[in-house]
Amino acid sequence: MLGAIIGDICGSIYEFDPVKLNDFTLMLGDVRFTDDSVLTIATADSILNNKDFVINYKKYANDYPFRGYGGRFQRWAWSKSLEPYGSYGNGSAMRVSAVGFYYNNIDDVLEKARQSAEVTHNHIEGIKGAQAIVLAIFLARTNHTREQIKDEIENRFNYNLSRKLADIDKNYCFNETCQGTVPEAIIAFLESTDFESAIKNAILLRGDADTQACMAGAIAEAYYKEIPQYLKDKAFEIIPKEFRDILDEFYKKSKLRSIHNVSINIERKNNGYYKILQNTISKGFKFISDFR
Ligand SMILES: [Mg+2]
Repeated sequence: MLGAIIGDICGSIYEFDPVKLNDFTLMLGDVRFTDDSVLTIATADSILNNKDFVINYKKYANDYPFRGYGGRFQRWAWSKSLEPYGSYGNGSAMRVSAVGFYYNNIDDVLEKARQSAEVTHNHIEGIKGAQAIVLAIFLARTNHTREQIKDEIENRFNYNLSRKLADIDKNYCFNETCQGTVPEAIIAFLESTDFESAIKNAILLRGDADTQACMAGAIAEAYYKEIPQYLKDKAFEIIPKEFRDILDEFYKKSKLRSIHNVSINIERKNNGYYKILQNTISKGFKFISDFR
């Protein structure tokens, strides 16, 4: 989840002023946290403290105004309406990463992503975008390979992840839809070699830089399992104490709920051996090894 916030902060200065150099340093200039970070924290707070998504998204948007919210979301947040507005914007996908880190089976991950999306983005593409991001995070943090992540997302969501960044770059331009940014952010991760390069790849798409770096950063955090210290330090310097507290609580609780505690099933066999099975994605238990 911190990976999403770091991606947002790193991309914040490039959203309307795309970077053109292939080699650039992250966290330079007048970086700030934007709506992506605010609503990512709101999602985590909802999960941790059982708070309604609708109420919490409105509360955070009002507590942290003028952070680059999309026009329709802003109007909704400032209105009295508690109804969704049929959006397929990438707001549902940018705010959802906590779900992918917190829940320990694929059905819960996809269902919670749907719930968090549909309070505003109750369009099929809006829900799909959120689910694709959390599924990528879930598979990455449960040690699936890049190829497995790519195949699973392509099969489930019908996104084309076989394109290369170099090809996308030729025609890509600013886009705020799920279907026009989520697959590309996933590709930015798929072509990365470490956490930093995932963020840079996303920014170099020269599209919705903060949001795409936010999504790629979350998947990269789950996959590489480490974030360079200077990025963490800078992010913690920028975000408010309330965000830092929620992050601390989130990491403590999600570690306790770790996949390693809940998804391994051990069966006693007649010959005195134990059989270890691991619950992988939705395909049931997979045999790992025997031990006595
Ligand atoms: Mg933003």
